[in-house]
Order: sequence, then C-alpha cells, then structure tokens
Amino acid sequence: MSRAVTQSPSTPLDGKLAAIVLEEVQAVARERARHLDLDTRIRELGLDSLEYLDVIARVERTCDIRISDAAALQIETCRDLAQAAAGLAANRPAYGGELPAESWQLDATREFQQLRQSLAEAEAAGEPDPFFAVAEGISGPTIEFGGRELINFSGNNYLGMSGDPEVIAAAKAAIDRYGTSVSASRLVSGTRPPHVELEREIADFLGTEDAITFTSGQATNATVISHLLGRGDLILHDELAHNSVLMGARLSGATRRAFPHNDWQAATDMLDEVRHEYRKVLIVIEGVYSMEGDYPDVPRFIEVKQRHKALLYLDEAHSLGTLGKRGRGIGEQFGVSGHEIDIWMGTLSKALGACGGYVAGGRSLVQYVKYTCPGVIYTVGLAPPSAAAALTSIRKLRASSAQVTALQANAKTFLSLAQQRGLNTGKSGGTPIVPVILGNSLQALTASRLMRERGISVQPILHPAVPESGARLRFFLNAFHSEQQLLQTVSTLAEVLREVESRESPGENAGE
Ligand code: PMP
Repeated sequence: MSRAVTQSPSTPLDGKLAAIVLEEVQAVARERARHLDLDTRIRELGLDSLEYLDVIARVERTCDIRISDAAALQIETCRDLAQAAAGLAANRPAYGGELPAESWQLDATREFQQLRQSLAEAEAAGEPDPFFAVAEGISGPTIEFGGRELINFSGNNYLGMSGDPEVIAAAKAAIDRYGTSVSASRLVSGTRPPHVELEREIADFLGTEDAITFTSGQATNATVISHLLGRGDLILHDELAHNSVLMGARLSGATRRAFPHNDWQAATDMLDEVRHEYRKVLIVIEGVYSMEGDYPDVPRFIEVKQRHKALLYLDEAHSLGTLGKRGRGIGEQFGVSGHEIDIWMGTLSKALGACGGYVAGGRSLVQYVKYTCPGVIYTVGLAPPSAAAALTSIRKLRASSAQVTALQANAKTFLSLAQQRGLNTGKSGGTPIVPVILGNSLQALTASRLMRERGISVQPILHPAVPESGARLRFFLNAFHSEQQLLQTVSTLAEVLREVESRESPGENAGE
C-alpha cells in the first residue's frame, strides 16, 4: 500500500476533512489558535514537538489514516494536513481489504523501524552501540567494564551511598529479616518497619508533614501526576521536563503545556491568559535539570503558584543530597520551607543509593495518595533491601554532610577546569551535572567511545533526546572523585574533542 501523501494542489480539499483538521488543531492549540484558518502554519501556533505530534495523531485517528514521518515533516499549514489526510483517505483500502502489516506485526510498525534505522546508522558510522554495556561492580568514582577499571561519570551515585559498607549491611540485614520481597501491596500486608521509618525520615528531612514511597522514581511521577490531575485541569511544565512527567501528564487526560526552560515569567504570563479556563493547575519543575545541570528560581515559581492559585510539584531526583549545605536539596538552597511546595517528589535511586521514589507534603496529600494512587495500592511495596538501604543513607546524610560538601567541591572544580579549557558547558552551574556540548550526535558518540578507550566512562546524549545542536557528553560528578581524576578527565576530554573535530565528517569521505 502506498504511504505517499498526495499534496498536489489539484487534490480537491474535502470540506469535512478541512473541518476535522481545524477542530483537532484547535483542540491541541486551544487559546493559541484564536485566528485559525486553513493557511495557519501549525508550528507557528507555539506548539512543542509533542503537541505537534498530537495534532497529527488526532487527525490520523479521526480519519483512520497513517501519515508517514517524511510526509509529516512537509506539513506546514492546516491546508497541507487536510490535503495529506485527503490523499491517504482516498487510497485507504476498502473495508475487508488487506490489513497493512503495521496494523498487526510489531516489527513492521513505524516505531520499531525508526529504532532499527537509528541503530543501523550508528553502526554504519563505525560506532559500537554505547548503550546497555554490561558493567561489573559498583558505580562509584570508577566502574569496571570488561575487566577494565574506568573513571566513571555515567552514574548517579552522587554521595557514594550505593556501595557504602553501612548501607550494604543494612540492606543485607533487611533481607535476612524480611526476605527479598514484601510480597503484597503496602495497602494490604506489604508494609514493613523500614517503610514506615524511611517515610518518617524523608518527611523530617524535607520539613513536610508526611511522605510515601514507591517502587520506582519514574513510576512515581507517572502515577502521581496522572492520579491527581484529570480532564479539565492543566499541567504546566518546564520544556525540559523528564519523560516521567510527560507520561503522567498524558495519562491524566489534563491539558499539557510547556513553558520555556526555567522561565517563571513565561509561566505566569501563560497563566494570566488561561488560568480561568481550568479547574486545578499543576506547575511541574525539577530541582536540577538532568540534561543541563542547571536549576530553577524556586521562590519565583512559588510566587507564580500563589498568584494563580496553582499547585507546585517539584521533582528532586537530582537535587536531593546534592544541593543545600546539608544536602536537603533545592528547598534548603533557597531557604524554602516544606509547606511552600505542594508536592515534593524525589527518587531513592541517586543520592540515596537505593531504588524507588517518594512523594512528600501535607498529611492529607500523603493520605490520599497512600489510599488511592494506583502506583501504591496496585503494586508491591518497596523491596526490603531498597527500603533499608534508603533509610540508612538518609540517616547517614542527616548525621554528616561531609560527602555533600565533597560533591559540591568536585562539581565546582570540574566545571571550572572545563571552562578554563574553553569547553561549552551550557547553562550548568552549582550542580553535579556538567554537560559538554558538541552539537553533533555522531561526534558525541565518537567522543564517548574515545573517552572509554582512554579509560573514562561518560555517556553521550544524542538527538532526539536533545536537539542535534545540543548533542553532548554528560558528566555526573561523585563525592569520591579525586582531584587527579578530574584533572586527567578534563585534559583527556580536551584532547578527544580536538581529535573528533579534526576528523573528516562521513559526508566528506563519501564523496571521495
Ligand atoms: N525524575 C527525573 C528528573 C529523573 O532524572 C529521573 C531519572 N533519571 C527520574 C525522575 C526517575 O527516577 P528513577 O531512575 O529513580 O526511576
């Protein structure tokens, strides 16, 4: 079956399809589509890429068609989209005709094909797949791959809690006492003493009334956001929000809008315009942005939330244990108290060296989530070793902030060494995440391999995780990196980048 889009000007524009397209664009763009007509350029309505894909998907669903990626790229105006839909609808096999393979074979779907194509492109460029490499041992300042010890910047064990002897001993003791699983949801028979103690410690540490834990940080955002918000509500998030926030927003059925990165003024301007159209409004920000290594002006966002009677959700995946003098996170850094943020979310998997997530806040929020959220009541409680490990980590963190100080010093040293070399570290500052931006995915992939070959593990971040111009290497600092390791890394990096830049691009070779 042909997938080409018929966009010839001679294709008659079906009035019904034109109306469908205008309706679907309107449904996604809402107040941004005030003067919508067939000549409106869809992207110029201010849609982000997910919203644009949503428009295409809605038209595909309503018209029972599938628009190819290549065709989607050519669509500029509502008229283009209506014509594309008209061409495909005209070519659609009649009912009873043969179903296309992508309707019933996973291997033939667009998504599967896209992944295969990206992996093949990397292989054709001579780069081995850097993902899912099997490491040995603990992810600390060093890590072992294939029997070689590398200096490690590719893990989030910021404070060295994963691998700490006391944390390990606590996890082992919890297994001896409670087994490897609690074997039931927390609601029924799955609660054990380490859960209760851990939730108390988290709440006390953050200065909130209560807290509740989950088996995964990713699932915490997805389940909590989708549970608290619904149709008729608005989720307003930073454009660099983590996937789990977007997933929660999508599952909730609420309207989702992104504001420019860290731009509280833009967020408030958007709410000035649309707040009255919604019931609840949830503003979602992160304590440290994992691609950029920067952070928001939280007090400003609190003002926005207060001004517009919105709820504020703060994801502290990368800020708990890393920011603030005592590692209490971005709240401590800005002197914000527990009750000023409605929902404090974080993970147990990074600074706390375990696995799982949490939500902390007011007693009634925690009670509601605990008794009703699917990610609590329809899934098993945290495994005993994870609960005990996180509990011991947080107690250690509360007892001493020496590792927090060491981490912050390492982050500062690394950033200034990189800047002295003239490397492009983007907006990073004051956090243990330092990107080095290359602006070319293939170069980032090659640089990561060359670093590995020279004894340093650092992951590349490639398009489409970031725009091509933002392709980068991303360094996660650790409290236990030595100064020597940091010096060696930055000087190796400068060499590798020179080498990568001086290589001919594959396009130039191809012409020879
Ligand atoms: N939120 C953010 C901002 C994250 O970066 C991550 C993980 N990278 C998560 C949530 C999910 O946490 P976890 O890996 O513990 O599931």
